[in-house]
Amino acid sequence: MSTSESRLREEIAEFGALLTSQGLAHGSTGNISARLDDGWLLTPTNSRLGRLDPARIAKLDADGRHVGGDPPSKEAFLHRCVYEMRGDAQAIVHLHSIHSVAVSCLTGIDADDVLPPLTAYYVMRVGKLPLIPYFPPGDERLAAAVRQVAARQPAVLLANHGPVVAGTSLDAAIGAIEELEATAKLYLLLQGHATRPLGGAEIAELEARYPRR
Ligand SMILES: [Zn+2]
Repeated sequence: MSTSESRLREEIAEFGALLTSQGLAHGSTGNISARLDDGWLLTPTNSRLGRLDPARIAKLDADGRHVGGDPPSKEAFLHRCVYEMRGDAQAIVHLHSIHSVAVSCLTGIDADDVLPPLTAYYVMRVGKLPLIPYFPPGDERLAAAVRQVAARQPAVLLANHGPVVAGTSLDAAIGAIEELEATAKLYLLLQGHATRPLGGAEIAELEARYPRR
């Protein structure tokens, strides 16, 4: 095993523990993957993100076949669809984090961009958040919808399910999904309150100053 693969395994376990300590990954929900030169790593099925053994994290080849470690998460197809469509994705995180899932269950939300640009950090780390309609887990229509939308945006929200976020590094993907969850919580806190999201000029200035990596 290469040094970079060993290091990525350690980092996935460390970030899994961090997400769990923040209350973002309850039970055995959530999965984390990272791209390798010859495939990708993915957290195992039925594993708790807070108690990962780096050596047992699943390894898949470039075609998504399981080639090492414990059996991969049943949601491997989500990661595979995003890696296929985003050559810049080095890591992907998917959570069933409560506030993001709550927003994904609301009616009347804008499916093109679910959350308003409430803060500068949300604009810088997430930007847009399209909603993918609900399909049962494993349904081919869900895979097709994820492929189509992930080609345009690194962060998507699955209706009645949760967010999937790709990053140009594991750190970037984790930072973006943390920001997404925090913004979902703010959005819910602000329901019923007159709110001023950032405006077009403010967003354009942020995008010019801090291009998303
Ligand atoms: Zn899921």
